[in-house]
Amino acid sequence: MARIVVISTGGTIASRWQGAGYAADADGAEVMETAAVPEGVEVEVVDLFSVNSPRLTTRHQLTLLRTVHEVLADPGVDGIVVTHGTDTLEESAFLLDLHHDDPRPVVFTGAQLPMGTADGDGPGNLYDALLTAATVRGLGVLVVFDGKVHAARGTVKVRTLAPDAFADPSGHRVGDVGFGSAVILRQPGRPVPLAVPELPASSPRIDLVMHHSDADPVLFRAALAAGAQGVVLVATGAGNATPEFVEAVAEATAAGVLVALTTRVESGPVAEIYTHGGAVDLVAAGAVPTGTLRAGQARIAVLSAVLGADGPQGRTALLRQALAADTPVLAAA
Ligand code: ASP
Repeated sequence: MARIVVISTGGTIASRWQGAGYAADADGAEVMETAAVPEGVEVEVVDLFSVNSPRLTTRHQLTLLRTVHEVLADPGVDGIVVTHGTDTLEESAFLLDLHHDDPRPVVFTGAQLPMGTADGDGPGNLYDALLTAATVRGLGVLVVFDGKVHAARGTVKVRTLAPDAFADPSGHRVGDVGFGSAVILRQPGRPVPLAVPELPASSPRIDLVMHHSDADPVLFRAALAAGAQGVVLVATGAGNATPEFVEAVAEATAAGVLVALTTRVESGPVAEIYTHGGAVDLVAAGAVPTGTLRAGQARIAVLSAVLGADGPQGRTALLRQALAADTPVLAAA
């Protein structure tokens, strides 16, 4: 028998009508009751929390990370499934992947339709996640959804409502799951894992600021004034903004704030091509380009770097380590 631990965190897969709308409500045992368990799999449930995932904090995510490591300390466990809201699933999954140093898989899944819906997707996704967790090794943290297996790194929510909710817009999925097995098509690129951080007394503030036409760096500087230890600039195009943003980035990095550069474009890497406020100048001012990572995951990489070291040099080195596996897949960009 494969022993799989299901860690339940809420989301639509655990949601019920609350009188005005849906919200996470059910515990892990109730979520498990909705799904069939693949033959040869034995399930244990850990009820961590039951919240809509937009409400998750860094503290929730670090608690999940530490719980996964505690569960994997038992050599009798063969794999983990995390049931999670889809809205921020890409962030929690990537956080766990950055710190995952074990051949046993952690498989995230969830649902687009609420619990108990006759044609809901939760039960099938959970079954597929259990099957994947019981059978694959050495792939890091995965997202199993709508019959597809995705690497946590690079995978984002790409559809607000449709069942095929996840994809890596700059890459390819890792495999497929169905007809009783998971078929792995490629080995995901992964960096050297980062150490698991202690739970800090208070979580560091890491902000996202988006550039757009007519934008000025007021909100970027507001992030600094609010005490941000890291800021992700979500630039336009291949990573471009304005000379005014370059000045603000230089101020931030001079003050020891970690600045990462990503783009609001759906796919493709950030590239140092343009000056006059473009990525060439933003990187010269100290911003670290994040390859093909999109905003939410770039923010998680900055968070892990900030939690892992005290000074700007150490943090920048950890951020670069976290990004090291992020080889742009230009053909798909
Ligand atoms: N709002 C929900 C959540 O992320 C959406 C979902 O789970 O699909 O918790």
